Amino acid sequence: MSKKRDLRPETLAVHAGKRRDSSGGPLVDPIYETAPFSFADPAALARAAEGQPPDAFYTREGNPTVAAVEKKLAALEGAEDAALFGSGMGAIATALLAHLKAGDHIVATEDLYGGTPRLFREVLEPIGVTATLVKTEPEPAFEDAVRAETRWLYVESPTNPLVKIVDLAFVAGLAKRRGLTAVIDGTFASPILQRPLALGFDLVPHSATKYLTGHADVTAGFAAGSAKMLEPIRARRVRTGAILDPFAAFLVNRGMKTLALRVERQSQNARSLSQALSAHTSVERVHYPGLPSHAGHEAARRQMRAFGAMLAFDLKGGLEAARRFLSRLELIALATSLGSVETTASLLRMTGVPATIPS
Ligand code: PLP
Repeated sequence: MSKKRDLRPETLAVHAGKRRDSSGGPLVDPIYETAPFSFADPAALARAAEGQPPDAFYTREGNPTVAAVEKKLAALEGAEDAALFGSGMGAIATALLAHLKAGDHIVATEDLYGGTPRLFREVLEPIGVTATLVKTEPEPAFEDAVRAETRWLYVESPTNPLVKIVDLAFVAGLAKRRGLTAVIDGTFASPILQRPLALGFDLVPHSATKYLTGHADVTAGFAAGSAKMLEPIRARRVRTGAILDPFAAFLVNRGMKTLALRVERQSQNARSLSQALSAHTSVERVHYPGLPSHAGHEAARRQMRAFGAMLAFDLKGGLEAARRFLSRLELIALATSLGSVETTASLLRMTGVPATIPS
């Protein structure tokens, strides 16, 4: 695709990465559902096996269906490179394992998807990488927690599940001043609503299980950033085998073609719902960055194209009222995921993850 024009995200989501052949061929990239690729002669095999694996080699190392989606993801994030994984956690874990070693330290906000602090505690801590979680609001209290061994500042925005907003320019600026790597889990915004690399972030992992795929039928993840950030991540993925299967990559690609339309409409719906809930006498408080009363509203306006499809609310009457409310839902499914065409609801559980792990 021509690099000369600045294409809009909705166009990139359809066209970027397409393996178009000038002689024609399929309009839709086919699924290369094969583990190995074959080579015409020993010299071609030897060339493929040396250095960077080509797109068509052995699916754990290179597969054209996966590579095409990665090019689309990189284009959407405005990144030099992107790598796909079997899940969002696969992307986050592989990125951490690729870049951090025993003795290194992460400072993260305490508002994170629950699996991430568990990954810090259960996988990283035993191998000597420690993490400190700090208050997210009014702005991440990173400054006091940074030590000589700190390598990464790690945030989510909007956060799961309370949709808090982190001022991304603030975090990227701090990381730059202190010589740290700024990493953001971008799942809750998708690349349609927010492009953290343009604001100075170094790495953006996502769960592609959510908005990207959009139909709640695939578990996938990706990480996007500079070629320098991605090179060790790709190398580590070959070792951990956390690659996405080509059929799942095809489904991610298909889902992404409507990503922009879906996210735009989902954001409008969530905004209307947040207003209706705010006016309801049984509702105590609505957490939605599109509401002017939300603490992160101004930052969200600056750094997001719309406010996203996720909202949380507190009911008067607490847990009992929440359980009653959930038991009466009809079309809305009780499920612990987000970003698909179905509306889902769940009850915020206490994760039991201590605020500091370990300090
Ligand atoms: N990051 C966020 C913000 C999430 O909400 C989730 C899952 O809910 C993940 C990461 C993990 O993604 P996956 O389930 O694809 O591993």
